[in-house]
Amino acid sequence: MENCIFCKIGKGEIPAHKIYEDQEFFAFLDIKPHAKGHTVLIPKKHGLNALDYNDEDLSRLMCVIKKIMLILKKKLNPDGFNVGWNDGSAAGQVVPHLHLHILPRYNDDNGGSMHSIIKNPQVDVEDVAKLFK
Ligand code: 5GP
Ligand code: ZN
Repeated sequence: MENCIFCKIGKGEIPAHKIYEDQEFFAFLDIKPHAKGHTVLIPKKHGLNALDYNDEDLSRLMCVIKKIMLILKKKLNPDGFNVGWNDGSAAGQVVPHLHLHILPRYNDDNGGSMHSIIKNPQVDVEDVAKLFK
């Protein structure tokens, strides 16, 4: 897509520190890393979020996540990972092209878990469960 920064990175029109590339996917170091080895993984095909891709695309994406984790494990030997994406501006998505954050984690890095992204103790699980019945 024209004027999409991640489409441009995927085509090599904007430089990035490549971690992995194949025909469909490109992974590179985040320019403002939150962890040593913070990697951004994109499909080269433009889409805003996961709903813009078919099941086959997303299955291959999962396999590429594993490949990147193995690359990072080999080079940086982290103690763990957080893997995920910000879907929509309410969730913190800034670049409107699907991208996964692969964050190597280290025992002494003082970071939190997925649970530290948002906390809302007012939400009652029993009330919410009724909406799904
Ligand atoms: P979002 O908040 O959209 O999930 O995250 C976008 C991420 O892409 C941010 O962590 C940001 O630092 C990274 N990013 C944005 N522009 C560039 C760029 O031009 N090059 C690289 N390597 N990373 C970028
Ligand atoms: Zn794009």
